[in-house]
Amino acid sequence: MTILVEQALAELTPPQASASCWNEGSLFVLAGPGSGKTRVLTTRIAKLLSDSPDKSFRVLALTFTNKAADEMSARVSVLVPDQERRALIGTFHSFCMQMLQQHGSHIGIRPDFAIYSLDADRQELLRDALKQAGLGYGDIKLLNIIDKLKSRLISPEESANSFRDKEAGSRIANSYRAYENALLRANALDFGSLISAAHSLISNNPGIATTYRRTYKYWLFDEFQDTNDGQYRLIRALAGDSFKNIFAVADDDQIIYQWNGASYQQIQRFRADFAPQEIQLPTNYRCPPSIVMAANRLVIHNSQRTETKLPLEAGKKNLRYPDGTHISLLRFSSDTAEAAAVARGIKSIDKSLWSEVVVLARTRAMLERIQQALSTAGVPAAIAQRRDDFRSPEFLWLSAVLRQTLRPLDTRALEALIGAFNRWWGTELQVGDIIAAAEVSNRSYLDEWAAAVPPQIDAAGLKLAELTAKYGKEPSRFRHFIDAVIQDLPTGDESLVDLAEDRNAWNDLNRNISRAIGRDAPLEQFLQELSIRSKEPPPVKSMVALMTIHAAKGKEFDHVFLAGMAESILPSFHSVKLGENSPEMEEERRNCFVAITRAKEWLCLSYADTYGNWGKMPSRFLTEMGFELPQTYSD
Ligand code: ATP
Ligand code: MG
Repeated sequence: MTILVEQALAELTPPQASASCWNEGSLFVLAGPGSGKTRVLTTRIAKLLSDSPDKSFRVLALTFTNKAADEMSARVSVLVPDQERRALIGTFHSFCMQMLQQHGSHIGIRPDFAIYSLDADRQELLRDALKQAGLGYGDIKLLNIIDKLKSRLISPEESANSFRDKEAGSRIANSYRAYENALLRANALDFGSLISAAHSLISNNPGIATTYRRTYKYWLFDEFQDTNDGQYRLIRALAGDSFKNIFAVADDDQIIYQWNGASYQQIQRFRADFAPQEIQLPTNYRCPPSIVMAANRLVIHNSQRTETKLPLEAGKKNLRYPDGTHISLLRFSSDTAEAAAVARGIKSIDKSLWSEVVVLARTRAMLERIQQALSTAGVPAAIAQRRDDFRSPEFLWLSAVLRQTLRPLDTRALEALIGAFNRWWGTELQVGDIIAAAEVSNRSYLDEWAAAVPPQIDAAGLKLAELTAKYGKEPSRFRHFIDAVIQDLPTGDESLVDLAEDRNAWNDLNRNISRAIGRDAPLEQFLQELSIRSKEPPPVKSMVALMTIHAAKGKEFDHVFLAGMAESILPSFHSVKLGENSPEMEEERRNCFVAITRAKEWLCLSYADTYGNWGKMPSRFLTEMGFELPQTYSD
C-alpha cells in the first residue's frame, strides 16, 4: 500500500476504515448524510488498486452523475497516481454506453450509435414517428410514460398489459413501439434504452457478463438508494449467481428519485440477493450539531425507513461559529421581500466565499426569482440546471459541430448545427436554403453554411463560424478545433460570457472526457461521451450557485440558503393534496432532509406569507424540526 493511501485510511474512523478495507464478500453501508460514505468508497477504490501488484486488476465504481464520477476519479488519481484506467469510474449510463460500444453488435447495435439526451430531440423524434404511423400527437407526457416503462425494462409488446384501461394501454404500446423503431432507424439510443439494451445484451449473452466479472474484481456503488428497477436488474444479471464482491453505500432517508423508479425495494432486493455484511456509520462529519439535530427530528416523521438505522450523531470538529448560531429562520411578508433578503444576505458574505454558497429551493421559479434579485444586487449567480433542461450553448455547439463533422451528409446533424448557431447568435439561417445551395454548388453543407453566415454578426460569431468551417471538415483535427475555440475566440463579448469567463469549463470538459475514454479514443466515442454529459450542467465557478434540491444531492457547501419553506412549496402542492401519510409527502420530507444536510457551516431557512397572490402557511417541516416560528417579519 502506498503512503498516500495509508494516510487516507488513517484519517478515517474505525468503522469507516473497516468498510474501506473490507476484504471479500458483499458489504452494505446504510448511513446518513455526511457520514463519509463517498469518502469511504473512494478510499476503498484507492486501497484496492494500490494493494494489487497485478496491473490488469480492475475495479468498477458507479454513481449517478458525471460530476460525482469525475470527482471520485480525480480523488482516486491523487491517491493512486498510476491508476490510469484501472478503475472504471462512471455513471450507470456511461457504463452501459461503453458496454454497448464494445458488444452492442450482438444485439444489432452499431458502435457509432447516437445518443439522444435532450428531451427536445426526443420529442421531435416521437412526433415524427407518430405522424408517420398515423398515431396522432406525442407530447412530453407520453414520453414520460415511455420512460417509466423503460425504467422497468418493459418492452412495447409487454406494455399494453401494464394499463388497466385496455384502449389506452394499446394506444401507448403502439406509440412506444413507433418511438423505439424510430430510434432504431436513426441508429440512436436514449438514456432509458442504454440501460435496457445493456440488460438485454447481458441476458442474451451470459458470456459477456462472465467477461465483466473476470475483468472487474470488485464493484462499488455510491448513492445506491437511487437505483431503479432496471438498473438493479442490470447489476443482478451482470453478477449472475456467483459474484459477491459488491460494495454499496446508501441512505434510505435520501431517496428523492421515487418518481424515477428509485425505491427502498432495491435496497431490500440487494440484501436478499447478495446477503451483504453491514456496517453502520453513525457520525456526521459535515454539519454542525444543531443541523444534525434538526435533521434527526425531521426524518423520524417518515414511516418508510429502516428501523434499525441509528440517528445521526454530530462529529464535526472546528466549528466556525459558536454552536447554536448555525441556523437562521426568517419570515417575510412576500416572496419578493424573501428574494431580496436572500440576495442581501449573500452580498454581506465575503466575495471570496461565494463559490461556497448555495441557494436551494424546491422549484425553478423560485430560483429564478432569487437569481434576479442577486443580479440586481450585483452578485454573479447561475442556476445549475438539473439534467433535462440543460442547454448550454457550448455543449450544443460542440456536439452539433461534431455530429456534422462525423456525418457530413446527415441533414439532422446539419439541423442541429444551424439550430444551435441561430439560437446562440440570433441569426435566422434556414436548413432548407443551405441544402438547396449545396445541391446546386456541389459544395459541402458546412461550406455552404459558413458562406451563409451573415457578415454583420459579431466578431466572436464570425470567428466561430470560420473555425468550424476550417476544422469541421477534418475529423482527425477535431481536437485542434476545441483547442482553437478555447484559445482563439475573441473574449469580452456578451454572448460569449460563459465561454470567455470560463474557458476552463471547456478545458475541464475536455480533460474529464479524455480521462473517461482515453486520449486516443475515436471521435465517435467523444461525441457519445459528450451527449451523455449534456444532461448535466457545466461546473459553476466563482459564482453563487442556485440549484434545485435534486441537483445538490451528495454535495456540500459552507452556506446553504433554503428558500420557500412554505406549505404547497416544500412540501409540494401535490403532496399536501395527497395528505400526511402519502409516499409523496414522505419524499418531500426527504427532500427537506437532503437540503438541510448540505450545510457545513450555516443554514438559512426562509419563508414568506404570500407567494404571488397566494397566501401560504409556514412549512410543517419547520415545526417538525423543532423551530419556533418567528412572529415578526425580517423584510
Ligand atoms: P451524502 O449522504 O450527503 O452523500 P456522505 O455520507 O457521502 O454524504 P461524505 O461526502 O463522504 O459523506 O463526507 C462528508 C464530509 O465529511 C466530507 O467533507 C468528508 O471529507 C468529511 N469526513 C468524512 N469522514 C470524516 C472523518 N473521519 N474525519 C473528518 N472528516 C470526515
Ligand atoms: Mg455521498
